[in-house]
Amino acid sequence: MATTLRTLGEPDYRARQVWRWAAQGAAGFAEMTDLPLDLRAALDEAVPYSSLTLAQEAHASDGTVKALFHTADGRPVEAVLMRYRDGRRSLCLSSQSGCPLTCTFCATGQMRFGRNLTASEILDQALHFRRGGDVDHAVFMGMGEPMMNLDAVLGACERLPALGISNRHTAVSTVGWIPGIERLAAQPMPIRLALSLHAADDALRSELMPVNDRYPLRDVLDACRAYYERKHRMVFVEYVMLAGVNDSYAQARQLAEVLDPRTFKVNLIPYNPTDSPYQGSSPKAIEAFRAELERHGVGATVRLTRGRDIAAACGQLAAGGAAPALRQRAAASQA
Ligand code: SAH
Repeated sequence: MATTLRTLGEPDYRARQVWRWAAQGAAGFAEMTDLPLDLRAALDEAVPYSSLTLAQEAHASDGTVKALFHTADGRPVEAVLMRYRDGRRSLCLSSQSGCPLTCTFCATGQMRFGRNLTASEILDQALHFRRGGDVDHAVFMGMGEPMMNLDAVLGACERLPALGISNRHTAVSTVGWIPGIERLAAQPMPIRLALSLHAADDALRSELMPVNDRYPLRDVLDACRAYYERKHRMVFVEYVMLAGVNDSYAQARQLAEVLDPRTFKVNLIPYNPTDSPYQGSSPKAIEAFRAELERHGVGATVRLTRGRDIAAACGQLAAGGAAPALRQRAAASQA
């Protein structure tokens, strides 16, 4: 867009003008009333307004909205808007189409990896929802591993504040990709770090998350502690509750042992069913696990499940769980 503006001989401030409109939710160039009419028409002609096309949108009974997009080269990308009772409107963004990691319980992990998304493709997910109303939080907990595409993720984070999402209200979630954690710690934005842990011992963690062989537990936790030292922001540990796998009292105690309560806070995630052999822990088992962590001094909350009826919940983003026809179409256009 900036290039087109230069080609059209427009002054530099035009790009900033266009960006301001887009970030405030304008639906297209036509709405940018302080741009000359012929310039609006020229932009319309020359530049697609978004790098993504919306393929499908599903609305859940709890107000959650899931969007399936396609990139220009036909890659599927999903993003979710979650509305909470306290008024918070949080976006769950994808950093990659598919995911190269193969966590055994995750739907995205079971689909084919496509490619890294560009900063624009990440931002355009957020802009899509911004056009529907205010947004104020973002989590990189959609498809993909953000730390394996950190330049693009940070590029998007630099621009999210213009949409109403400050860096403090932005969280990047990782499997424990250490080089990424270190880079995130070294850059200045006060972004929250979230770590997908899921097991407090290496054998079980490697079984659930093969990436643990490359970056084992102890090293990952060290990198998170260094993050905390540097940024003074608590690290949120995500722990998906799998019945009979990682939800015993002994495992709660083991988890409490490896987590320093000044650095880490635990978010227990009820497992959302996918095509995996796992079953979610019961609400009772989750509450018992939470209480056991608290008894050992570690703060823990249970994540609210949102959008389960449209397969928009944690770990269900796999290009059209709610619409198999679209998934096939996406696969066909990739072939
Ligand atoms: N790759 C990053 C970002 C994805 S975040 C990461 O793993 O942190 C997605 C979060 O949802 C992760 O914590 C992941 O472990 C969790 N998750 C994956 N599948 C899930 C499922 N079926 N139910 C609940 N949570 C799941």
